[in-house]
Amino acid sequence: MRKDIALMNVSSSEILLGLKALCRKERKLQSDFLAYLNAVEDRKLFAGEGYSSLFSYVTEHLGYSESSALKRIHVARLCFKYPELYYLIADGEVTLTSLQKVAPHIKKENAERLIKSICHKSVREVECLLAGEFPKPLMPDSMKPLNEEAFLIQFSADKDFMDKLNQAKALLGRKYPSGRLSQILGEALQLLLESEGKKKCMPPLTEQIPIDPDLKKAIEHQELLKDLMGDPMRKNTPRYIPRGIRREVWRRDEGRCQFPRPDGGICGETRFLEYDHVISWSLGGSSQALSNIRILCRTHNQWRVRQEFKNFTLPSLQNRHK
Ligand SMILES: [Zn+2]
Repeated sequence: MRKDIALMNVSSSEILLGLKALCRKERKLQSDFLAYLNAVEDRKLFAGEGYSSLFSYVTEHLGYSESSALKRIHVARLCFKYPELYYLIADGEVTLTSLQKVAPHIKKENAERLIKSICHKSVREVECLLAGEFPKPLMPDSMKPLNEEAFLIQFSADKDFMDKLNQAKALLGRKYPSGRLSQILGEALQLLLESEGKKKCMPPLTEQIPIDPDLKKAIEHQELLKDLMGDPMRKNTPRYIPRGIRREVWRRDEGRCQFPRPDGGICGETRFLEYDHVISWSLGGSSQALSNIRILCRTHNQWRVRQEFKNFTLPSLQNRHK
């Protein structure tokens, strides 16, 4: 039966009492949820389940939206530092949203006062309180030369700009893994100069002079040979994975972490990727065999190494006790 229909014969006062009881229960559950979240993060349990971060575990596995996940993770970390917050949340004295807003401003010396000041306040009231106590002035644009080749550029930007910047960073994550602003904005400026310059018949200054097609073919042939043979300078190093193998693995694994999940899927992370030997090169695993090389994210590469280390040391310890 539909739950709201089931309530048809319940008296109004009982419904109000029931709702209050549920509200108390929900707050208690919220507080418990944060404690469990902290345990998952503390023990890195998400990695064993095939996720590269607590955030991807909470969004992809537990099904929370990105903003809900971020809120819970930020507040859980705050509770980890200031455990009295678990009780304030369970008692309904503070909300998760208020705590998320105040989290970046909390320091040891102001924690007690700030937490007290947001108790029983609406989110809007907390925002006003924070804007009063921690005003953020807009910075005027500035450009200063650091040396002959480099400049320090500062400017204030609105949220729309930040959203676009984050999207661009994600798009160019493979090309620029460190995601430096100068790289991302440089790429954007290059595109602008090309498109606007074309309209005005002004090709950008950095446009390359066309290469003689025969010369280009010769260079490509050389590159291909190098890829197939590996770099002769390094081919005696067993750990070194030849460029041709790396390129082929990248294509096969579609630039995604291949760490398997218990449900049959893979982690799929696209940032901070590393090439991994399925059988370690130190245990004789080949760097030349496509089947022995795969892509893992940094979290899972480290996780795998830790597991291997565990498996490797346990038998010898047992032997010692015999
Ligand atoms: Zn991964």
